[in-house]
This record gives sequence, C-alpha cells and structure tokens, in this order.
Amino acid sequence: MSKVIVVHSQPRMWLEDSVLQPYVSRFGAHLRRGRYAPNTQRVYLCCVAHFAHWLTGERCGLSSIGEALGARFLAEHMPACSCPYPVRRLRHELRAALAQLLEVLRADGVGALDPASETAVAQELARFDAHMRDVWGLADNTRRQRSRIVGAFLLAHFGDQPITMSKISTASVRRFVLGQDGRSAGSIGVIDGAIGCYFRFRTLSDDRVSELAAGIPRAAHWRLASLPEVLTDTEIDELLRSFDEPFPSRRRRASSSARFWRAIEDADGPAQESIFCGTAWPAGFYAPARR
Ligand SMILES: [Zn+2]
Repeated sequence: MSKVIVVHSQPRMWLEDSVLQPYVSRFGAHLRRGRYAPNTQRVYLCCVAHFAHWLTGERCGLSSIGEALGARFLAEHMPACSCPYPVRRLRHELRAALAQLLEVLRADGVGALDPASETAVAQELARFDAHMRDVWGLADNTRRQRSRIVGAFLLAHFGDQPITMSKISTASVRRFVLGQDGRSAGSIGVIDGAIGCYFRFRTLSDDRVSELAAGIPRAAHWRLASLPEVLTDTEIDELLRSFDEPFPSRRRRASSSARFWRAIEDADGPAQESIFCGTAWPAGFYAPARR
C-alpha cells in the first residue's frame, strides 16, 4: 500500500502552514497501522486539514489541542463555515478524524489533557492501548475489545482510585472472568484473553502479576486451544454489550453463545476443522461479513 496520502493542493497547504505540519506523516502512519482504507485515510487527512486551517485562523497552539478545542471547532466554526473548496464538512467524518489526531498527538505527549482521562483507570487504559498499538501492532478492533474488557475489570476493582495490583486477588480475577451468570466457554475465552493480555503488559512494567495470571480460569474442555479466536463479530459485540446490561439480558446473550459452541461441539471432526479454518460455519449460523 502506498505510504503517501494524495490530497488536493488546498488542504495540503492548510496542513503545511499550520502547527500540525510536523505531525502529518505520523498521522498517515497511524491510519495505516489502523488498517484504514486508502479513501478513509484521504478523507480523514482532509478533515484534519480543515481543522488545521481553523487552528491557524484562531492562532491556537499545539498545547491547546484537545477534546474541548475539537468540540469548539464543531460547535462554533462548522455552522458558519465558509472555507473554500474542497473542504470536508461532514460532522461524523470530522469527529472521527479529530479523535485519531488526538491519539497521534497524545502518543507524543502533546495536546491538552482530556478531563475524562484524569482518572487512574483512564490513564492506565491509554497506556495499555498505546502499548497494544505501538509494540504489539494490534488492529483497532482488537484493541477496542480488549480495552473495553480491561476497563470493566479495572473499574470493578478500583473505581476512581489508584491501580494497585497487589489489591487484586486470584479469586476476584476468576469471579470477573467467569461472571455471575454461567458464561459460555467462548465468552470466557475472549475475556481471559483480554485480561491475560493486560497482565502481560503489567509484567513488562515489573509488576508481580504472574500469580494472578496463573489464576485466570481456562475452559479446559475446549478441544482446540485456539477456539476463542474464531468467536464471531456478533458474538463478541454481544459479549461486550453484556458488561453494560442488566442480568436477564446478559443471561440471554450467554445462552446464545452457548448455543453457538454447542453447535460446534456437535459437528464431526472434518466439519469442526472446516469451522476452525474459517471455511465453514455451524448449521444455523451465518458467517459475519468480512471487514
Ligand atoms: Zn471551515
């Protein structure tokens, strides 16, 4: 894939004449790492160019760039925007592009601090996400799923207090992974994968978490260790939503997951192999659309 995002000369000039100029190539690299389609990369860069043009007019420095300034751009400038062609004006595009820009700036320690990121859990999640992205090279979707599960785990243990791993017990890790409502083997696999990933991250910063990691329950009856990797998009979405929903709804979703895994277990050897290799799906289930 080309490393150059081709944009019209006008947005390119807006970027080059702005405080964002040193971050243009890093922004492009960030989008490529996130595996955005070439057209989305171009659209997002043009959105950032629009923001850059406004920043220049408002004489805003890099240190002022954050969620609040982005919101001001959308609320104050956009309704009255008369910037020349080919300016991008779709709000959802601008919002998404600005969120990516803030990730790039914060990875470099630049920009205003988001008030919502002042809690210890939010800061920890930001570090964890940056590590998954920059060191392990994980895709956006995987990082979002793991961050959401780890965020629920940390909030359940610490709320808005500092994170102290020694306060977590092996028993509470098991309780979180297994849930209160008899989660399916597939759901447990996704959750213990995310928590195990977080513990590996903590191990790198010298925390003695190996005992906790050893306490993560494993669904030992799986016939193949890689089963969680084939959980469908829908299954994963359902699982993630279950963290935010009341108990009866969680139970329905767990039941749906269990039905999926039972269908796999009922399949014979060759059929199972096809399922795990991604060439077939259990009867009654449909393959998710490829992203
Ligand atoms: Zn404008």
